Amino acid sequence: MGGPYKKKPKPRKVNQRLWKTKNRNKDLDEIDSDMKEENAPKLLKQEIDLDKPGSGQHYCLHCARYFITKEAMLSHFRTKGHKRRLKDLELEPYSQAEAERASGKGSYFEPKRRKVETQPIDENVINNLVGNALSSNNDAAT
Ligand SMILES: [Zn+2]
Repeated sequence: MGGPYKKKPKPRKVNQRLWKTKNRNKDLDEIDSDMKEENAPKLLKQEIDLDKPGSGQHYCLHCARYFITKEAMLSHFRTKGHKRRLKDLELEPYSQAEAERASGKGSYFEPKRRKVETQPIDENVINNLVGNALSSNNDAAT
């Protein structure tokens, strides 16, 4: 059994860079609130910010990522990572209410599942969303 050379176990590669605070991305519950109707249009149509990749014009709502070009964003929508993220977002974010339900306060029910779709790509659709959000904001103000 085995030769004179014992195979050293390979150290598990942990990408330390990914765990640095500055590389930390938004948590799922933050993204969940971003996906709400009142917040999403603001993120989909951001003001030009030269400090952000692609001037902040190409933003994936679900992954909280900026892309340089529209093409890069579109190809990102087809990646495994993005699809996995959509799946992760299907489950409602964990909340205090759920924790209390689980600990016996009230009756427990499973967190809801919902369908999450990739954000609209069509400019017209986005403009509509932004318009709706603006008009509903005005309604709230008056
Ligand atoms: Zn994405």
